[in-house]
Amino acid sequence: MKKDKKIFDLIDEEKKRQKEGLELIASENYVSEDVLSCMGSILTNKYSEGYSGKRYYKGNKHIDDIEVEAIERAKKLFGAEHVNVQPYSGSPANLAVHFALLEPGDKTMGMALDAGGHLTHGFKVSISGKYYNSLSYGVDENGYIDYDQVQKLALEHRPKLIWAGFSAYSRIIDWGRFRDIADSVDAYLVADIAHVAGLIAAGLYPSPVGIADVVTTTTHKTLRGPRGAIIMCKAELGEKIDKAVFPGLQGGPHNHITAGIAVALMEASTDEFKEYAKQVILNAQTLSNELSDRGYKIISGGTDNHLFLLDVFGTTGISGEEASTILESAGITVNKNAIPNDTRKPWDPSGLRFGTPALTTRGMKESDMVKIAQWIDSALKNSKEDNLKKIREDIKEFTKNYPIPGIN
Ligand SMILES: *Cc1c(COP(=O)(O)O)cnc(C)c1O
Repeated sequence: MKKDKKIFDLIDEEKKRQKEGLELIASENYVSEDVLSCMGSILTNKYSEGYSGKRYYKGNKHIDDIEVEAIERAKKLFGAEHVNVQPYSGSPANLAVHFALLEPGDKTMGMALDAGGHLTHGFKVSISGKYYNSLSYGVDENGYIDYDQVQKLALEHRPKLIWAGFSAYSRIIDWGRFRDIADSVDAYLVADIAHVAGLIAAGLYPSPVGIADVVTTTTHKTLRGPRGAIIMCKAELGEKIDKAVFPGLQGGPHNHITAGIAVALMEASTDEFKEYAKQVILNAQTLSNELSDRGYKIISGGTDNHLFLLDVFGTTGISGEEASTILESAGITVNKNAIPNDTRKPWDPSGLRFGTPALTTRGMKESDMVKIAQWIDSALKNSKEDNLKKIREDIKEFTKNYPIPGIN
């Protein structure tokens, strides 16, 4: 029996929610029992400021071995020259890159938030947009990155660092083209693969490693590890990056997470994971096609990865906030999202973002996506409580066949 009833009851409620609903948030996933065990382990008790062999505190023999193993596995899986596994999460990893390579006020460029970029790539309210002089690039009217525009803006603005990467872009990124653009203005190219790291590990999405100067990634999205991040870079930038993470930005690393990252990297190197990643993409393509066939407007018309954006306001007249609330009541979790050149406000944008990493971990396949598209369509067409309740109950029944590691 746990002593803190209140908190453990809430965890049980959350388990029930995860189990009985359909999780379509593109940045989420379900980690394995082994990853969960690392995160709930006694490794959390240890302080290890510094790096392997250069710790400020004693007693780090085993922690050193764990961190070195995580680094070696990341190097091998992604083909990286230098790896840092200590960033607490994706946002601090990106801040560490700014801190390592720039002075406050230096110019940067990143993808606009409404085009699918991330806050940490220079968005106004983020430290990356307040302490650095950032400019954003967008996508064309078809929803694809407009490389000519990126090149033009780079020549005008002359940034010292260019971010390539996204949280809501469903197409392949031409890393080589970004490299050329960065070279034309002598800028660092930093690729943020937070969303597609698992697909890259599986060889199903092009890798920027070896092309970009620095590559950052979260470990908890398609890579299916604990909440954390990895920074990979060319050997000559290794010292700068390491110093920016510690002591520049952080104190002691989260050793229980480092162990979980090591396990996730091992899992991601298996044939089973390759099959998983393949299915993630197939599922995303099936779901977007099914919704498109039902008349919903998909940004760029489809997807090459694990996610897509749907212009729900343009299709149904229901806003992103309202649509995501309706779907939540039906047991389907998605997030509202701005779409390119959105005319609505960020807190109630026109779009919804869908992603299939979590459902695919539960074992769902194309035929299940067809069913899910029907439920989504039904809920959006008839949002009366009796219909939403019926869908919620159908989904609860349906999900019984699809287990989640750590939840019985
Ligand atoms: C999720 C994400 C991040 C931030 O990760 P957190 O762990 O939430 O801080 C950074 N960059 C991109 C592109 C992301 O999608």
